[in-house]
Amino acid sequence: MSRNAESTAFRSALEVVRGVEPRVADAIAAELADQRESLKLIASENYASPATLLAMGNWFSDKYAEGTVGRRFYAGCQNVDTVEALAAEHARELFGASHAYVQPHSGIDANLVAFWAILADRVESPALRKAQARQVNDLTEADWFALRRELGNQRMLGMSLDAGGHLTHGFRPNISGKMFDQRSYGTDPATGLIDYDRVAEAAREFKPLILVAGYSAYPRKVNFRIMREIADSVGATFMVDMAHFAGLVAGKVFTGDFDPVPHAHIVTTTTHKSLRGPRGGMVLCGPELADQVDRGCPMVLGGPLPHVMAAKAVALAEARRPDFADYAQRIVDNAQALADGLLRRGATLVTGGTDNHLVLIDVSGYGLTGRQAEQALLDSGIVTNRNSVPQDPNGAWYTSGIRIGTPALTTRGLGAAEMDATAELIHTVLSQTTPGTGPDGAPSKAKYVLDPAVAESVGKQAADLLTPFPLYPAVDLG
Ligand SMILES: *Cc1c(COP(=O)(O)O)cnc(C)c1O
Repeated sequence: MSRNAESTAFRSALEVVRGVEPRVADAIAAELADQRESLKLIASENYASPATLLAMGNWFSDKYAEGTVGRRFYAGCQNVDTVEALAAEHARELFGASHAYVQPHSGIDANLVAFWAILADRVESPALRKAQARQVNDLTEADWFALRRELGNQRMLGMSLDAGGHLTHGFRPNISGKMFDQRSYGTDPATGLIDYDRVAEAAREFKPLILVAGYSAYPRKVNFRIMREIADSVGATFMVDMAHFAGLVAGKVFTGDFDPVPHAHIVTTTTHKSLRGPRGGMVLCGPELADQVDRGCPMVLGGPLPHVMAAKAVALAEARRPDFADYAQRIVDNAQALADGLLRRGATLVTGGTDNHLVLIDVSGYGLTGRQAEQALLDSGIVTNRNSVPQDPNGAWYTSGIRIGTPALTTRGLGAAEMDATAELIHTVLSQTTPGTGPDGAPSKAKYVLDPAVAESVGKQAADLLTPFPLYPAVDLG
């Protein structure tokens, strides 16, 4: 596609939107401008390709297609079948999975589909078997009562939120922490690393039905072969949520023991983080769970988003190209350069470094809360998010950490030299920010003091760093 075609496509689209609600067109254009100008270090974000973005804005959005390819509850789904089958084929080939279900609207939806597929497969319930055999009318009220009690009280062991796990891995305020009898494993307080012996011990004691691995804020590889052995030793189904690092699996940076696909019974992911696709989710599994997973609708989901499945097919096709492996390797090289740059300047990092796409700075070393650090960095043109650190004394709102990640900046083309410069900017802001006080003079976990001249100077340097790496260089909105 010519560069000119990209410009024309986005310009024309905005012109059409502007004709109806100009404020929406303006907000879309402003979002591109903001993204172009900010040093985006949010570990869960990326920049999807123009082809991926454009595949979403079309008539597929109008189509209902409950069911699966070739077995729909609606007529006229032949074109949706085409894109769903293509997305699933690319996913299977890319990850070496025997089955792919590409309908989940998000990572959380993918996890809910996986949980219910596992429950439906594993829970020994005569009522459930009747329901599945489509003898729903034979079920008595007592059967339904038993079914709810049995399905709702199964055991799940996942990584705790403050050690880097996700809300859906059993965090109490999330539905996963209520529908399951839940326990969590953390990390070793001394090293910050997963202690597999402790996980094995927790599994032996608790005997979970589901063992979950995967994370949103753990800066290290996970050995999925060992985790599978632990699951097998207690008869648990082993689920991996690779939402954050799917791009590193796709790009073959995580192989062998660190590739979840050959080791897990079921793998879930988002498609918009390191995988660089549209916002969405996906489930991969072997033949044993495939039928249950394909019942995502009606089990959990309603109609799929066919326009997003079209974009998933495009993005997954991109991820199968050789240059994606190069991209994935550069993500990790950049994260390590960023970590090294921060360590050399005296920052404290959870686990002392990284071997994936993210770095977790313990900002208590700078005398700050995560909230103060996040806002001071934002004032200086650096976009990050605050995050708990293990055993965080400041809780999940203020936190003591800043999570930074390299998938987005790597997409723009920044490399090791720019990562070192970025480390310098982050260190400058954090070392020059001091905690503020509340109206009563008491120490505040939110207020902070940063000389505006420092923020401005860092902001300018951050912008200069980005100048040689324009975002969507072919797109000129005029
Ligand atoms: C981001 C994330 C999710 C949730 O994805 P959404 O698309 O935001 O619902 C689930 N699991 C993990 C590990 C994540 O990092």
